Order: sequence, then C-alpha cells, then structure tokens
Amino acid sequence: MKKFKCSLCGEESVGFGNNPEPLAPYKQRCCDDCNWTRVVPARLSIVYAPSANKRRKMIEEFGRALGYAVAPRKEGVRWRSSNR
Ligand SMILES: [Zn+2]
Repeated sequence: MKKFKCSLCGEESVGFGNNPEPLAPYKQRCCDDCNWTRVVPARLSIVYAPSANKRRKMIEEFGRALGYAVAPRKEGVRWRSSNR
C-alpha cells in the first residue's frame, strides 16, 4: 500500500489519503482523522455560511491562505475528490 505524510498533522498513513482543501492545497494529502475532524468541518462551515456574501468572503480567505482560488459553484463549493 502507498504511504503518505498527512499535510495537516504530519503523521504517516497508509492509503490514498484525502484532499485537505481548503486547509491545504489539493495536491497534498491528509489522513482520515484530519479529514473528519478538520477538513470536513471547514467545508461545512462554508456550505452553512449564514449568507452568500459571508460564504464568498470565506472562500476568498481560504483561497488567500492556499495561494490559489478555490472553485465556487452556485450551490456551494466543488472539491476535487482526489489526484490519484
Ligand atoms: Zn492528519
């Protein structure tokens, strides 16, 4: 099995890993723990933003931290599932 180092906690894991966006660039990988405890809540915070304006601002903020624009769609944000 393939090994990777989680870009959020630094732990080494086995498998494909998950897309850590918007907390780290999509080309990096994160472990399942970080995916459920950090990445998913971060995405949900965007999805459940109190207003469209606030959502846009959050997307911009995450994009600034990542150094590239995260791709928003009308119904929310499209996340790249993997880079396999
Ligand atoms: Zn991790």
